[in-house]
Amino acid sequence: MPVMRLIKSICLAILLAAFAASTISAQGATQAMQQDPACQSLTPAAAGGPLPKDQDTVVVRWLGWTNYELAYRGNVYLLDAYYDRGPHSHPIGVMPKDFKKANAIFIGHAHFDHISDAAAVAKQTGAIVVGASFGSEVVAKEGLPAKQFKAVKGGEVMQYPGVTVEAALGHHNVIATQVPAGHLEKQAATLKVASLDQPLTEEETKQAAAIRARGSRDPKIATDGVINYLFTFSNNFRVMIADSPGPVTDQQRALMQKVPSVDVAMLPYVDFDAGIPPLVELVKLFKPSTVFLGHHDGAGTMNWASNYPAALAIRDASAKTRTMEVVYRTPVCFNTMSKEMVIGW
Ligand SMILES: [Zn+2]
Repeated sequence: MPVMRLIKSICLAILLAAFAASTISAQGATQAMQQDPACQSLTPAAAGGPLPKDQDTVVVRWLGWTNYELAYRGNVYLLDAYYDRGPHSHPIGVMPKDFKKANAIFIGHAHFDHISDAAAVAKQTGAIVVGASFGSEVVAKEGLPAKQFKAVKGGEVMQYPGVTVEAALGHHNVIATQVPAGHLEKQAATLKVASLDQPLTEEETKQAAAIRARGSRDPKIATDGVINYLFTFSNNFRVMIADSPGPVTDQQRALMQKVPSVDVAMLPYVDFDAGIPPLVELVKLFKPSTVFLGHHDGAGTMNWASNYPAALAIRDASAKTRTMEVVYRTPVCFNTMSKEMVIGW
C-alpha cells in the first residue's frame, strides 16, 4: 500500500472513531436525560417534583405567562411569579400554595402579572425575591420580611452553586406607541365580541381586582424597573430571560457584547401581531438557539395567541433559532456540555 494511501486510511479511521465516540457520548446524554424522572415529570421541582440527577442537566419548565422554573444541581430558580391568574384563565396546574422549594425568585418587573404571587411563594419556600426596587413595596405589603428582598438595578452579578446570574436593565414594551392610535383597544374589543367567554360575575371581578392589587403601577417601571437575567451554567451554557419586549437598551447591548449568543431565551410575545417586531429585535440581540415564548396565553381562547406567526418571524430573522411549542409544566432538559435537548411529555 502506497504510503499516502495508508496515511489517508489511518486518518479516515481516526475520523470515524472520533465521530462514533461523539455520537455515543451524545446518545449517552440524551438517554440519561430520557431516563431522568426530572425530565419526565409534569410536577415542577418547586412543587415537590424530582430534581435533575446529572450535574450537567438544566430543566427549563414554562409555568404559564412569563413564569418559568429552572432546576439545576439540587436548586430551583423561579422567574416571575403570577400563578393565580384569576377567573377564566387557563389553569397552569400549580397554584401558589403548591410551592415548596425555591432558592430565589427573579422578578422581571413589578407589574401584577409578573409579581403577584412572589411574596406568597417566598414565604413558603424561604426564597429571596430579586428584582427592581419597585417590587419591594409590593412584597412587603404581602408580609414578606425585608431581608427576603434583594433590589437590583442592572449590572449586578449573583453567584449560586454552579451558576452565575447577571442582571441587565431592559425596557418595558412601548407597543401602544408603535401601533395606530386605539389599535390595542379595538383589538381587545373585537376579541371580546368574538369570544364565547362569559363576562365576569361580581365575585370574579373582585378576585381579579385583588390580584391586580398585588403589583405596582409606578410609571417609572417602564424605564427603570424591567430587569433581564442572564444565567450562565457550567460549560458556559447560557439562559436569558426577558419578560417585556421593550426597545433594546444600552445594558442589554453591553451584556451581549460580552457573550456571543445564548443557548436558551425565554421571551415575551404580547399583543398579537403588534408584539412580533419587538420580539424579533430581542431574538436578533440574544441570538438564542432555542426560544420559549410566554405572555401570549391570555384568558379564554381568543386571547391566546398562536406561536406560529411569531415562530415564523423568528426563523426568518435568525435561521439557527428554533421556537419551542410546549404546554404548561412540560419539562425540557438540556445537557450543558453537549447542548442536547430532551422534551418530556
Ligand atoms: Zn408590564
